[in-house]
Order: sequence, then C-alpha cells, then structure tokens
Amino acid sequence: MCCRIENSKHSVMSSSVEKMDIISLGNAGFLVSDGSMGIVIDPYCAVPGWNSFLKRLANKRIVAIVITHGHWDHFEPREVVALAQDRNALVVCPHQVSHRLFNLNLNPELNAELEPTSADRIVRSIGVDLTISAYRTEHGSEHNSYLLEWRGFRLFHDGDNENTRLLDWDSLCGLDGLMLCPWQGSGWVEFIEHIRPRHWFLMHLDSSELEAHDRELFLPELCDHIPQTPIALRPGQTYEIYKV
Ligand SMILES: [Zn+2]
Ligand SMILES: [Zn+2]
Repeated sequence: MCCRIENSKHSVMSSSVEKMDIISLGNAGFLVSDGSMGIVIDPYCAVPGWNSFLKRLANKRIVAIVITHGHWDHFEPREVVALAQDRNALVVCPHQVSHRLFNLNLNPELNAELEPTSADRIVRSIGVDLTISAYRTEHGSEHNSYLLEWRGFRLFHDGDNENTRLLDWDSLCGLDGLMLCPWQGSGWVEFIEHIRPRHWFLMHLDSSELEAHDRELFLPELCDHIPQTPIALRPGQTYEIYKV
C-alpha cells in the first residue's frame, strides 16, 4: 500500500543527469549531489570538519534533509532545524523525529513526516523528479530506511536497519547506490547478493574500523564472504557514480 503526495512548493524542475556525487559526512551521513543541488541524509554534525561541510553546501540548493531515526549519531535536532530553516530545505523523517522538530519550532511547511502506514512503505513525491519512499525497518523505537529516486538515479539508505528481511528486496533490485551498515544477523550479505546494487557504500565505521577495513580485516570478522566490493569513504571524501 502506498500513498502519493505532491508538494508543489518544493518543486524542482530538472531532468536526468549523467553523474551523481556521493559525499560522506561521517558516520552514516551523506550528501548526494548533482553538482548544483543536494540531498543531505543523516548529517552527523559532531564529525570534525562539519563547518567545512557547511561551507561546501553553501553554493548548493538543499532539496531535502532525510533522517532515518532519532539516535544522536543520525539526528542532531538543533543543527537540523538551523540547516533546514537557513536553506529552506524539507526535512523528511519518521514521526518521532518530526515531533521533536515541531517542538523546536521548525517551520511546519518544512516538517515532512513520512511515516509508513503499513508494513510496506509510503511514497511521497516532492516536486517533479524527487520521490522518497520510506520503508519501515527495525532499530530502536522507530526507524525508516529510504529509497531516493532523483535525476535518474535510484539510491537507498538503510540507516541502522538491523533486519534487511523486512525490506521488499525485489523493489530494490538494480540500485545505482546502496548505503548500508553491516549489522551482524541482519541478512545484509544475502540482501546485497539479491539486489545487486551497482555500488554499495559501507557506512557507520569509525576511524579505527576504517583502518581495519583498509587492511581487509573489518568485514571478514562479520561475514564468511563479502558480496561485491564495498566503497568505504572517510568524512569529506567523494565518490562519483555515473549512469550506465
Ligand atoms: Zn541508531
Ligand atoms: Zn547509528
């Protein structure tokens, strides 16, 4: 079951592009950018260099800020309110996060609760070419994973989802990019083998885990084989993905 909402105030008239930049903001945070516009996901404002990220965002239109859940390493309420109000960016988030933003007086027009009404997902279209689908997933008291379809690219951010079996795998086949935290027991290996994303980004690693990953020691402790080759970015690093 899904529901479609058009929000013309946030319409962005644009067509497909050939290249999309995936920029790590640290932890599970990303900026996805076509060059002139960007979508921010789970910004981790405590990371060293956050102010330089803000400068990097200064010349981009922020189309949306997407939050998977309310844990401190994915959602810092005051920074999100400041960024959203300063840049007139829609905040797409689960109910509990939306409620906290409401209490901090975020402009209601920017507060876009996107709460699944079934075990499946809900679809919200923002303007002409950005569609965000929320998938109810498992972690803490309330958690959504999100499919972003924008400018010809399909990207999925799985937040801290502890159970990939809750996702509709077939709906996620052939993604251009998957951002995933490899929780033990989540079924992530089989999930990736089923959906075969063109690129998958290993996220939620701290600096020592990234170093272990560089020495090919991190994932072998979590799984008996690694599906495809992951991309692990350090905060501030960019990976360019292209249309085939
Ligand atoms: Zn969490
Ligand atoms: Zn987390």
